[in-house]
This record gives sequence, C-alpha cells and structure tokens, in this order.
Amino acid sequence: MTPADGNSHDPELYRQWDRVRSVMRDELGDALFATWMEPLSLDRLEGDRVFLTTPTRFLRDWVERNYADRLRALWTSVNGSVRRVAIDVRLKPAHEAERGLPDEPASAPLPRDARVNGRPDGSGAHGHLPAGEPSSARHAFDELRELSAALDPRLTFDDFVIGKPNEFAFAAAKRVAETPVPAFNPLFLYGGVGLGKTHLMHAIAWHIRQQHPERRVVYLSAEKFMYQFIKALRTKDTMTFKDMLRAVDVLMVDDVQFISGKDSTQEEFFHTFNTLVDRGSQIVISADRSPSDLSGIEERIRSRLGWGLVADIHPTTFELRLGILQQKALKLPGAEIPQEVLEFLAQRITSNVRELEGALNRIVAQATLVNRAITISVAQDVLQDLLRANDRRVTVEEIQKRVADFYQLRVADLLSARRSRAVARPRQVAMFLAKQLTPRSLPEIGRQFGNRDHTTVMHAVRTIERLCDEDTAIAEDVDTLRRQLQA
Ligand code: ADP
Ligand code: MG
Repeated sequence: MTPADGNSHDPELYRQWDRVRSVMRDELGDALFATWMEPLSLDRLEGDRVFLTTPTRFLRDWVERNYADRLRALWTSVNGSVRRVAIDVRLKPAHEAERGLPDEPASAPLPRDARVNGRPDGSGAHGHLPAGEPSSARHAFDELRELSAALDPRLTFDDFVIGKPNEFAFAAAKRVAETPVPAFNPLFLYGGVGLGKTHLMHAIAWHIRQQHPERRVVYLSAEKFMYQFIKALRTKDTMTFKDMLRAVDVLMVDDVQFISGKDSTQEEFFHTFNTLVDRGSQIVISADRSPSDLSGIEERIRSRLGWGLVADIHPTTFELRLGILQQKALKLPGAEIPQEVLEFLAQRITSNVRELEGALNRIVAQATLVNRAITISVAQDVLQDLLRANDRRVTVEEIQKRVADFYQLRVADLLSARRSRAVARPRQVAMFLAKQLTPRSLPEIGRQFGNRDHTTVMHAVRTIERLCDEDTAIAEDVDTLRRQLQA
C-alpha cells in the first residue's frame, strides 16, 4: 500500500475507505450503517492517522464509543500504515444541512417529566412540556402514527381464506382483535414469505379500528421501528419515544427478523416490550421463522418473544390455494375464469399466495386485453416463466456450484470468510441468484453461505441489483447464470 500522506484526493485512499465501509455495512446491516456510518466522511491521512469527519458532536461521540476499534482494525487491514483513526466534527455546508440528518438537540434536553402522560392525541399529552417549546413527544407520536397509517383496505379478516395451514394463526389473530385484555402476549406469527402474516396483522388493525376506535393501534415494519428507535437514541429523545409507545394499546411489529444490531438498542427494545406487556398492551410480532431461530437477537429477548402464543403459518395446500383463487376470482369484475383454470393454477403454482395472486391477475389482464376466453392453454402461455420457476426448483447448492464454476472458483471459496473482490463479488452474485430463484429467506440463504447474517445477504442483493443497472458486464454474467440455472 502506498502511504498517501496529507493527500485527501488520493483515489487509493478512497478505495480503501470504500472497502472499510463495505465491511462495516455487512457487519452492521443497512439500517445501522445508514444511521452511524453514512454521515462519516473521509478527510485525510496524516502519518499513521486517518482523519474522518462527522457533522455532529453526538455522532462523533457515539461512533467513537461504539465503533472506533473496529474502524481502526479495518483501516489497518486495508492499509498497513494506518494505526490510528481520528474523528473530527465538521459542520455540514449550509446547502447540505437540509438533507435531514437529525442533528444534536438544539436546546437543552427535555426535562425528565416531559412525557406523554395522557392520550397523545388529547391536549393532556403535552401539558408538561415547557410552553412554546415544540413538543417532541407529540411530534414523535405523529410520526409513529404516520408510519402506522398505511393499512391496506384489502387485508381484512373477511378477505382471508382459511384452511388447515393457517387456521390456527387466523384464530389467534381474531382473538387478539376481539379481546381488549390480552389472552396471550405477545402473539408471535411466523411463516414463509407470502403466506399471510402481514395480511393478518392488517386485519387485526382494521377490526380494532372499526369496533374500538378508541383503542390505539400501531402497526410498523421492524425496520421502521428500529429506525425510529435509533433516531430517538441519537437525538436523546428516548424518554418521549418510549412514553409515546407506552400510550399504545396494540403494538404490531412486522418482520422482526430484520431487528438485530447493537446490544444497547436491543436493551431499549426489551425494556419497552416488558413495560408494554406489564401495563396490559397487546403486542403482535411477525417473523419468517420461529423465535428460537431468530439470529442477531439476544437469547433473553428471543425466549421472551416465545412466551406468549406462537402461531405458525404452514405452506399452502392445494385446497387452500384453490379456495384463495376462487375468492379472488369472484372479485375480478367481468372475468369468467373456468374452474379448471383455477385448478390448474392451484396445482402448478405452489410457492406462495403472492405469486398465486400475481398469476391470476396476469391471466385476467392478458385475456381482457386481447379479448380471448381464458383457458388452460392461455394460462400456460401467459405464465410460462412462472410455471417453469415453480416446476424447476433451483437449489442454493446448485447456484453455488454453477456460480463457482463460472468464475473459476471453488464452492468453498464462496462460503469462506475471504473478502477479496475476486471472491466477494461472485459470492454476492450467488446470493442474489439464490434470493431470486429459490423461495429461501434471507436468513436461510445467509446460513447456507458460511453462516452469514441476513443483512449481508440483503446488502448483496441490493448491490447486484444496482450493479446490473450500472455495469453491463455484471448484468450479462447474471443473465447467463440465470438462464443456465433455469434451463
Ligand atoms: P407475508 O406477510 O406472510 O409475506 P402477506 O400477508 O403479504 O404475506 O400475503 C401475500 C399476499 O397473499 C397478500 O396479498 C395477501 O392478501 C395474500 N394472502 C395470503 N394468505 C391469504 C389467505 N389465506 N387468504 C387470502 N389472501 C391471502
Ligand atoms: Mg409481510
């Protein structure tokens, strides 16, 4: 490595910084990375010291406390002459200040008793706040309410088709929606992608909104939940954030497999969770796997998540798929879909309900467009790709083998910890294809790639997606591999 003393325009130094950042992203996951690492900029190298800058003192303190050692180790690994990392505060130029990194609290932190003690929508909510001060508590609740507002009107209990694989989860969800005092807490819904977890959560929210409008229901994706949490930590606003959460009667957090990361954040989550349970609020959680299989979450929290009722949604059966198709077909205006076509679809598209719906919509759209009667052969025609993908289930192992051959590597290299680009890029391609061509979840794929975290897989998927747009060579590789695998 060439030392690049004092020269902040040395491209090699920037490449090294990119490598450090990319490892940090893998390790932290996208949400934490965006919060803590994205705001850092590379300034210069002086002697054995790299200088980074952050826009706020709070960020600097946090990064120094939590990530300084790791940053230094990574820097040394990409550039042997680096021994120290210094982080300076440098205010953003005015034109960038708009971009909305939450800054340090401009004034003194709110007094400890400045909390939401009434219903946040009533005036009592901010009675304790200093007059004239913008109420961060109210603001936080508004934000939370905004996040939770997006309920899909089609996802109700009435629209949910019940069958053997989901009857238990359905009954549990119904019970939660109908009883004001939690019978089990939390309700933990889990099952594969596209099997109805989000549907059931929205249905609970709709039901309560209609029957008990005074009960406050908050529905959030885990990613948004964590984002909110981390933001609150950063602006030292956790008091009000937690209090605001505590004013909630039913808290639903979707896809918690994406919650992982810093212990302190989990700690906060855990406390809030316990407080909510203690004060009798209902919690509903969903994930793509059972509590005990959640990785990146502390053992104590995992086991706590399993204390309530754990309801598993199983893969669909032929009967359930047919039932769902029949119900959906009734709602498609003007389309006559013969029973045998519905049976054909239920027989052949077995992956998940989302694909099943997509298939039905495509056939109907096509048939109405060209004004043809809907028959099995039309269905076969329109759905070629989907049918092939459902027939020919590619496995992660096949993908690894094929990608390794293609790039003249060994499968062991793809599974190894090696991070050099010659290995890392093909590994990312393989992860991307695994996500695209198999029904495996991100965590499952991660496990099959040398026990990596799901956030690493997510990062790989996004990277390759982006590269396919920017880099025709990669796009062609991916395309060739996909065709080979699906042939
Ligand atoms: P998940 O959150 O488990 O990935 P979703 O709840 O988003 O899955 O379901 C995917 C799609 O399938 C949604 O459009 C949903 O309405 C539909 N769906 C899933 N299960 C059923 C069901 N039992 N009855 C009707 N529609 C269903
Ligand atoms: Mg979902």
